[in-house]
Amino acid sequence: GLTTRLQNVFSKLRGKGKVSEEDVNEAMREVRLALLEADVNFKVVKEFISKVKEKAVGSEVMGSFTPGMVIIDIVNKELTDLMGGTQAKLARSNKPPTVIMMAGLQGAGKTTTSAKLAKMLLKGNHRPLMVAGDIYRPAAIKQLQVLGEQIKVPVFALGDGVSPVEIARQALEHAKENGNDYLIIDTAGRLHVDEELMEELKQIHATVTPDEVLLVVDAMTGQDAVNVAESFHAQLALTGVVLTKLDGDTRGGAALSVKAVTGCPIKFASLGEKIDALEPFHPERMASRILGMGDMLSLIEKAQSSIDADKAKEMERKMRNAEFTFDDFLEQMDQVKKLGPIDQIMDMIPGMGKVKQMKDVKVDEKQMGRVEAIVRSMTKEEKQNPDLINHSRRKRIAAGSGSNLADVNRLIKQFDEMRRMMKQLSDMMGGPKSGKAAK
Ligand code: GDP
Ligand code: MG
Repeated sequence: GLTTRLQNVFSKLRGKGKVSEEDVNEAMREVRLALLEADVNFKVVKEFISKVKEKAVGSEVMGSFTPGMVIIDIVNKELTDLMGGTQAKLARSNKPPTVIMMAGLQGAGKTTTSAKLAKMLLKGNHRPLMVAGDIYRPAAIKQLQVLGEQIKVPVFALGDGVSPVEIARQALEHAKENGNDYLIIDTAGRLHVDEELMEELKQIHATVTPDEVLLVVDAMTGQDAVNVAESFHAQLALTGVVLTKLDGDTRGGAALSVKAVTGCPIKFASLGEKIDALEPFHPERMASRILGMGDMLSLIEKAQSSIDADKAKEMERKMRNAEFTFDDFLEQMDQVKKLGPIDQIMDMIPGMGKVKQMKDVKVDEKQMGRVEAIVRSMTKEEKQNPDLINHSRRKRIAAGSGSNLADVNRLIKQFDEMRRMMKQLSDMMGGPKSGKAAK
């Protein structure tokens, strides 16, 4: 897999002092592949790589960092920058209503996103009004009305006998009279960009002069999303992009290209069909997702500032040699507790975000307490040598800790998996380190 490949190359980069050109070239080969696989436009990739190279060669490798970590840090920051750096906010007119016009191809998610956005605004104590501007797709008006009822947001509709331009014009009047502070205009899409569609959208634009023109793009369409964004932007002067269907297994490279090519910030990400599956878009999170690295660096930095360096070194040696025991596990838990709330930490470990979303995995402080009780019910020998723990010992441990056998079995299984994961993490961080964090 991609992550493994990146891990391999980064773990090879050791040594101290300055990052060499050779280090960078080696790392960039993998980063280039990672980006192309994530569906980032090749021109964007090329520019990106040369920018990173320029920054990375010659930078200092401080404290317990490795050249690989320094490079990944630069890659991450540059990717984040490419996507706009910070979270782009929704426009707000000082002469309400703020008019938001949705645009995009058929099936991209305009209608659902309209409702999701309305719901979000409603939660923020606004009074949105949605407009049924798609008179072509069968049942499109009904679809918006059903969504409106579900979220308790009014829908302005005039049926399919009135032109969308006229509907938009009247809706704006209606919003002003009714004190709606946001007007969300759902529009029709086509399977491909065409003249007729653009003409109609331009007329709506001219009639209501929107504060926000949001292009809704399906993240699964990859490269094609860039072409679509380019043609819409040329005609409509987009103010932002909504990236939908990021809940699929797409890496979201399209996000990067769309911003880089059109200059339009991505304002929202949609991660599912449910009404509340819309989130403000965070460039730094997307950067990690594209690289498949999680928030590795923030975790490393956090860990370095709060974990005792000597203990960490000893722990790492044990992990490498697969000597990790339940005693170490308890100690590790104490260390982890110092880092902060467990669910935040999970978010920072690559792959763990997914684990957290799984139904039967619940990670919280209470759960940790239960786990701790089980481990504390083990004998000294059992903690040191987990392989000893057979069925009858498990039953005893369960009884002793006030839990049941299934809990004990699960913990031991997780422990084995964790041992494997730690080994991987430690391999990736590039070998035994020395000294305290540089910061
Ligand atoms: P429109 O033609 O642009 O108005 O697209 P719709 O809003 O009707 O959405 C088309 C389909 O995509 C519907 O079945 C939606 O439920 C689905 N959809 C929209 N956004 C998302 C998303 O973020 N994730 C997933 N999985 N499906 C989505
Ligand atoms: Mg629609």
